[in-house]
Amino acid sequence: MGETNSGSPEAMGDWVRTGGSGELRPADAGRDVTLMGWVARRREHGGVTFVDLRDRSGVVQVVLAGELSGRAGDLRVESVVAVRGTVGLRPEGLSNPALPTGEVEVRALDFRVLNPARTPPIYTDDAPGRVPVSEAGRTVDGAEPGETGEVLRLRYRYLDLRRPRMQRNLALRHRMVKAVRDYLDELGFLEIETPNLTRSTPEGARDYLVPARNAPGRFYALPQSPQLFKQLLMVAGFERYFQIARCFRDEDLRADRQPEFTQIDVEMSFVTPADVLQLTEGLMVRVWREAAGVEIKAPFPRMDYDEAVLRYGTDKPDLRFGLEISDVTELVGGSEFRVFGEAAARGEVVRGLAVPGGAGLLSRKDLDGLTEQVKAMGAPGLVWMAFEAAGVRSPVAKHLSSDVAETLRRALGAQEGAMALFVAGPSDAAAAALGHLRLEMAGKLGLTRPGDLRFLWVVNYPLFEAGDTPERLAAKHHPFTAPVASDLPLLETQPARVRARAYDLVLNGTELGGGSIRNHVRDVQERVFRAMGVPEEEVRAKFGFLLDALEYGAPPHGGIALGVDRIAAMLAGEDSIREVIAFPKTASAACPMTQAPAPVDPGQLEELGVRVDAGPERVG
Ligand code: ASP
Repeated sequence: MGETNSGSPEAMGDWVRTGGSGELRPADAGRDVTLMGWVARRREHGGVTFVDLRDRSGVVQVVLAGELSGRAGDLRVESVVAVRGTVGLRPEGLSNPALPTGEVEVRALDFRVLNPARTPPIYTDDAPGRVPVSEAGRTVDGAEPGETGEVLRLRYRYLDLRRPRMQRNLALRHRMVKAVRDYLDELGFLEIETPNLTRSTPEGARDYLVPARNAPGRFYALPQSPQLFKQLLMVAGFERYFQIARCFRDEDLRADRQPEFTQIDVEMSFVTPADVLQLTEGLMVRVWREAAGVEIKAPFPRMDYDEAVLRYGTDKPDLRFGLEISDVTELVGGSEFRVFGEAAARGEVVRGLAVPGGAGLLSRKDLDGLTEQVKAMGAPGLVWMAFEAAGVRSPVAKHLSSDVAETLRRALGAQEGAMALFVAGPSDAAAAALGHLRLEMAGKLGLTRPGDLRFLWVVNYPLFEAGDTPERLAAKHHPFTAPVASDLPLLETQPARVRARAYDLVLNGTELGGGSIRNHVRDVQERVFRAMGVPEEEVRAKFGFLLDALEYGAPPHGGIALGVDRIAAMLAGEDSIREVIAFPKTASAACPMTQAPAPVDPGQLEELGVRVDAGPERVG
């Protein structure tokens, strides 16, 4: 007793930890234990001090009486301490049913401060309503002016990760990845690593480049995915490959993206799409069972890309609710209502959806707001019609005959009290706008129940989409995706109509991943590049190694990649993937903790043969 209470390198002395705080149960009563962990909370009560001692296993209440209570001022919140004591049952009526250790307490015989902590700049508990301090509008030690709670959390991530919620999330992610490894291992897949210093692998994003010191002026690209390597592993005869792979894509991080993310990357030889879908369904069943204890049902339904875009306005439909989109172009062609009639005459589309009860729910202001939103998405505007007992209420009512209004009402299946929302315009813009409105309305009507899991395969994608310039087409997935065999002749005549042997897995409106059967024949791969308008020299320079490999006995093959971060977030019930990544970056791809990206030594740049133009502060 009475030992020094300031942390020191030998602070543990001869004390040996006997186990985790969160593991103690009534059966341990009478045991002498040595616990080590963090002070989560401390309170005095009539000469006795109560400390909640936390470690990875959980929290237990420690009671310090007499002389120990007198020294308990050293037990500052988040300090690391060791406690020796005896486990006892809490007195009648004082147990805490919210805690697994709630029926016991540890009566301290001695304690040591292994390392004292400064006052933490963010909260480390999950108590409801407690948000990182700067969000509550107070400045705290360590916060820069204007730093938001999120940035502060990332700056002190090692403290943020102490929160039970974050500990739970990362443990869940571990269990999920382990379930993936077990499942694929049992099915004969080999986990094989592929390089991170490589050449560009096109997945539709910008590359992160790494200058090569030994070859000034040359660069490695960090892989946007292991796509080419996994295909080469099939050529190499491995037949079944997987990897928990890190991918790097330099994109503007709108939505919930990260510049580096992890995927379950899979490739198989001698397979059809059905094989890959079945394997993936089994994987999802296993992951949900082992990481979340939830039984999901396979097989998952399938939907053609065209149908998804038509009925749901997106290739990742949320099937937890209806609010389906209807195409009414044919019904309004030649209509006296000019906005619709003229759009139809121009070859554009008129589509709409009915919001049950929307007539009473959506105010004029709501509708103006929705109109602005669809305009910002490139649609010309929004036409609304409220179907009420007294008739149709709409800014365009005077241009609509009651026949047309009735036709539209029926086409949308709108009941009395419904609000119909229409968009007329080019089909892409109309689909996107209505897809957006559909989600907005589902939110407003409270139709998105988190526990309702609607998996869906979207299949029969087009192989191409419009490219950056009119001469070029871009790959909808990536250029190694195989065309549907019967569409091959269209590659030279109507490439926009070629369908891909590709599939995406969608859950509740979120894309979990996607893949395809690949081109394993050199000639077909070359025709795809030609259809995209990629010059032959460029193909040879960038993908010559792949084309060569295809000539040395490349087996038919295909695969898929699934987003680990997204799946883990969904399993954890988190909205953002940042909550399941130990050290994520902000929306501007920065790390507030390490201050990356950071300036480097001028000497390093010189060695690399790199000169930076943006002024000395960038290189300083
Ligand atoms: N390489 C693709 C991606 O990262 C997945 C695949 O086609 O297997 O999205």
